[in-house]
Amino acid sequence: MHTSPSPPGGSGRADMKFCSHCGSARIGLRVPDGDNLPRFVCADCGTIHYQNPKIVVGCLPEWQGRVLLCKRAIEPRYGLWTLPAGFLENGETIVAGALRETLEEARARVEPGDLYTVISLPQINQVYIMFRARLLDLDFGPGPESLEVQLYEEADIPWEALAFRTITRTLRNYFLDRRQRAFPVRVSSLERRPPLPPDLLAAG
Ligand code: ZN
Repeated sequence: MHTSPSPPGGSGRADMKFCSHCGSARIGLRVPDGDNLPRFVCADCGTIHYQNPKIVVGCLPEWQGRVLLCKRAIEPRYGLWTLPAGFLENGETIVAGALRETLEEARARVEPGDLYTVISLPQINQVYIMFRARLLDLDFGPGPESLEVQLYEEADIPWEALAFRTITRTLRNYFLDRRQRAFPVRVSSLERRPPLPPDLLAAG
């Protein structure tokens, strides 16, 4: 999954130095008329540059009670395990994107199943959308972004070496729901933990 590092700033807003429409450097943050949030606005051509969250799509591929995980060959989180997932492309449906990422990262063909988890990450401006999926055959292996691809039983999931909290949450939900034999769509959010106050930090 080629997720980028968090954008700078508390708002998660990506910085902008030049207008991508006219090339002007006279660009600044202001609240446009009729709006209620600051946007980068070009003083020369007047273009308002809206920034919105990115969508990450992926699969939880299942095979006879086991799930397929990929060991990342790229930063961030090199060497940690993840479900196949990545940024949705323009012009692509969320299901097609999830299948494409699964093919790219795990060289795996799956039959897409139901929508499963939708997780908002407001501080880094991403939304994860994960589908359950049935692996169609055992002809899988690492794509260029993976070091290894492997099927895991629940008891062997490398919980301490998972790359992202979204993946941990999706897998934990999955194994709990599997016991109930029901997989409702789970909508949630993950927010950055607030820093500890200094007195607690000092107390270790
Ligand atoms: Zn401009």
